[in-house]
Amino acid sequence: MNKKLQRVWIAFGSNMNNPLEQLKTARDNLRACGLIEEKASNIYQTAAWGYTEQPDFFNAVVRYKTDWGVEKILEICQLLEAKQGRERPFKNAPRTLDLDILLFGNNAEISINSADLIIPHKYIKERNFVIVPLMEIDPKISINGEEISIIAKRLEMTGIMQIKTDNNWKKILTE
Ligand code: AMP
Repeated sequence: MNKKLQRVWIAFGSNMNNPLEQLKTARDNLRACGLIEEKASNIYQTAAWGYTEQPDFFNAVVRYKTDWGVEKILEICQLLEAKQGRERPFKNAPRTLDLDILLFGNNAEISINSADLIIPHKYIKERNFVIVPLMEIDPKISINGEEISIIAKRLEMTGIMQIKTDNNWKKILTE
């Protein structure tokens, strides 16, 4: 019997070793692993959060369909982070690749609170670099019953700028 397909939203971040290439490689790898890509945001350049003495980040959000359980998605994300050289020397350190599971379920309705997984992601409503790309691909989505446009209105929108790339995030387009 076929397992039910669910939606999953994944946030991408990088500020080391050619961030654009890091994001593109991770996106290609997630697809190659079997996640079915539905919609990808543009890439946003954003000022670092927490530990601010580090290069700007490149961030994006992609929505997928999958019949995988969310624990398996987390495992694959962590494997891909490791494959791209992710180290964790201290909290909020620069990183080659950060993959976070933002939301799960066809209407983003599934909540999880286990030892290694919190969904919706713990900081989803606090971070413009997550809310802005998520709102670009799903402008009407609700998180814990709250519409994303309302969440966005509360956030400081300085330090975030859309980068023009081709659809595959392969290269930056200059006008
Ligand atoms: P980070 O440093 O952002 O890569 O955080 C990794 C840790 O967060 C791992 O130990 C995960 O088990 C945990 N975690 C909890 N909820 C999530 C989530 N929604 N997506 C990704 N990692 C999560």
